[in-house]
Amino acid sequence: MSAKWLTLLGSTGSIGQSTLEVIAQRSDYQIYALTAHQNMELLFDQCQRFRPRYAVLGSKLLAESLALRLDANGLQTSVLFGEQALVDVASDSDVTHVMAAIVGGAGLASSFAAANNGKTVFLANKEALVMAGSLLMDAVDRSGATLLPVDSEHNAIFQCLGQSSEVGREVRRILLTGSGGPFLERSLSELEHVTPAEACRHPNWVMGQKISIDSATMMNKGLELIEACWLFDVAPQKIEFVIHPQSIVHSMVEFQDASVIAQLGQPDMKTPIAHVLAFPDRMEAGVSGLDFSQLSALEFRSPDFAQFPLLALARTVAEGHQSLAIAFNAANEVAVDAFLAEEIPFLGIQRIIATVVAQAPQPELNTIEDVLTLDRVCRTMAEGALHIDG
Ligand code: NAD
Ligand code: MG
Repeated sequence: MSAKWLTLLGSTGSIGQSTLEVIAQRSDYQIYALTAHQNMELLFDQCQRFRPRYAVLGSKLLAESLALRLDANGLQTSVLFGEQALVDVASDSDVTHVMAAIVGGAGLASSFAAANNGKTVFLANKEALVMAGSLLMDAVDRSGATLLPVDSEHNAIFQCLGQSSEVGREVRRILLTGSGGPFLERSLSELEHVTPAEACRHPNWVMGQKISIDSATMMNKGLELIEACWLFDVAPQKIEFVIHPQSIVHSMVEFQDASVIAQLGQPDMKTPIAHVLAFPDRMEAGVSGLDFSQLSALEFRSPDFAQFPLLALARTVAEGHQSLAIAFNAANEVAVDAFLAEEIPFLGIQRIIATVVAQAPQPELNTIEDVLTLDRVCRTMAEGALHIDG
């Protein structure tokens, strides 16, 4: 088997750490680069264990101290820093595979670079597709890259589609499931004063902070709707949200003949990660199987759009100009940071997103630079809206 050289963007995050756990069982992947923003300690440990050619950090200061520690321990890893370094290790010609697991718009440039340079891209960084779906999918087509979805629902849909060659004609509906997050049973008025700690406490999944808040607002499902439209080239009208509190069915596809195919498994990201790493084969993921004698009931219901208005807004965004999706994502990132810093209440998140989406300019978006420029404009608008809210 020929060696695969993997760059793991965001190796210190929740997806990054799970990826390293799974990859430790394989001998065909060699690590080209590991990247982190600030967690130098964990990146050092990962370098000791996985011996990458490169390690990337967010600042020169951190990079210099990591380089000193690696050197003192006799490790050959070269240390780089900054945004261009992320793009470089995602596009270097020796790299064959890239796991894109940076959180948020910060991952766009490097995810795009991997797609644009013909890599096999394992995509966890859903925000990149939300912000620049058309440019990213065009880059995949042009460069001959392979894009495999890591997000559990999209990985499930990908598995359910199987050999389906004409998704547009053969698929009647995609059923995008979501647990409903920690606040499924709360009324809207009860949500005004929930704390960041409560919002981060997801009933089924252990994840990074930002996606945990996105799950509590159900923004995550909204982002996933847009992600699915791009990945599977389907109109938003073909995708339905289904609340499934147990997180056992990870999504379903209904075909023209009314057959419904579902993918089931534990709520553990190591399963979709193992799926993409081994694709088209299968591998041991280190995840226990489902015990059907213990699974009492699997429930399914429609979401309450009044309780989670971001679901309805996501549909409008998915059907509109790409700039709406950029505004939707940028405002969310600013608002989630402000909520985590206890500067705005929980429901402020959805108010800020709605305000920015309503006011966002709609320029032509021909390049990633155009996308990033509009992203910056929308972030500034969201920062302005924080004070109105507070
Ligand atoms: P996380 O917060 O745990 O980790 C984020 C990683 O990105 C870290 O390695 C961090 O160092 C890096 N990072 C953060 N800001 C950065 C910046 N400005 N520049 C460079 N690197 C930066 O996040 P996560 O939960 O692992 O999520 C990663 C991505 O995967 C997100 O897009 C998320 O939506 C998606 N995803 C996560 C899960 C999950 O279960 N955690 C499931 C599906 C999809
Ligand atoms: Mg998901």
